[in-house]
Amino acid sequence: MAEENAFLKRLKNGGNLVVAEGYIFEFERKGYLQAGTFVPEVIIEHPELVRHMYEEFVHAGSEVVLAFTYYAHREKLRLIGRENDLDAMNRSALQMAREVADKHGCLMAGNISNTTAYVTDDPESHKKVEEIFKEQIEIAVEYNADYIVGETFGHFGEAMLALESIKKYGKGLPAVVTISAPATETLIDGVTLVDACKRLEDAGAAVVGLNCGRGPETMIPAIREIKKVCKGPVAALPVTYRTTPEEPTFFSLTVPGTKNRAFPLELCTCLCSRKQIADFAAQCRDLGVEYVGLCCGNSANMTRIVAETYGRSPPASRYAPAMEKHFIFGEKAKFKDAYTKDMRAHIGGDFD
Ligand SMILES: [Zn+2]
Repeated sequence: MAEENAFLKRLKNGGNLVVAEGYIFEFERKGYLQAGTFVPEVIIEHPELVRHMYEEFVHAGSEVVLAFTYYAHREKLRLIGRENDLDAMNRSALQMAREVADKHGCLMAGNISNTTAYVTDDPESHKKVEEIFKEQIEIAVEYNADYIVGETFGHFGEAMLALESIKKYGKGLPAVVTISAPATETLIDGVTLVDACKRLEDAGAAVVGLNCGRGPETMIPAIREIKKVCKGPVAALPVTYRTTPEEPTFFSLTVPGTKNRAFPLELCTCLCSRKQIADFAAQCRDLGVEYVGLCCGNSANMTRIVAETYGRSPPASRYAPAMEKHFIFGEKAKFKDAYTKDMRAHIGGDFD
């Protein structure tokens, strides 16, 4: 009998997984990726940084190394004239992901995503999209991915095509398919979020759910509904921005106090607090979300919060906040010296 797939084994009997996504924004923030194109050229230019980010997220509690092949596909590379680098880019991202995962006993996932080429009523575009998926899936299989993630789909049709492609070219690897929820409950091609997840599950996806698009506040209500109709594991990986019912996606957010669009360059003005991330993770835990994490806006300290809320103690927990030891804000009993007293008297605020 064939050995049981390591990913499916982890999710069996109520198991759950913490998964860090969000490489694109994090590399842009660090100065190694261009906003606008959002193509992960850093894989070729600075592979050591990609390896380091894998390490960083595992250190913070991610139990999966998601290969950074998001947007490393033909359509996006064509945009910057680097189609010739597609193969090397995908191979490098996958090989490093496998190595880091093995080093730490984690899972490794291949990754396909929204192609920006799918048009609902255009069968030619569907053929092209399938080719894009095939190309990346076949490389992920070569590098022994434990499963394949298809993510950030705005069309139900493209999400389903991703699933069918993983089934067709993935040599039996399980599929996680997550949709990027729009501002309404209905996807571009008219399928509701709940129906989309149910149909993907019925068609054989091992995990279905939502990633990207919405922040915690607007993702949770949809996840609650999806949880009611899906029998299998559900995924929730929001962006880390303060979306609201009035501005439900990070595309629609405005800079606080203005009417200016925040996406993407001013999104830092809408960043969730750590407490909001902790509250989100607690809600997911209480809803029984089996596949939890963060997408755009994610950083290691936020992943650590999700992991800890899910009962984990990743290596980064050693550096979890201990503000009681801070020389100004710490416990009064610990700091009776004149220096602390003077500082408190001069910075404003109530310390008692
Ligand atoms: Zn995202």
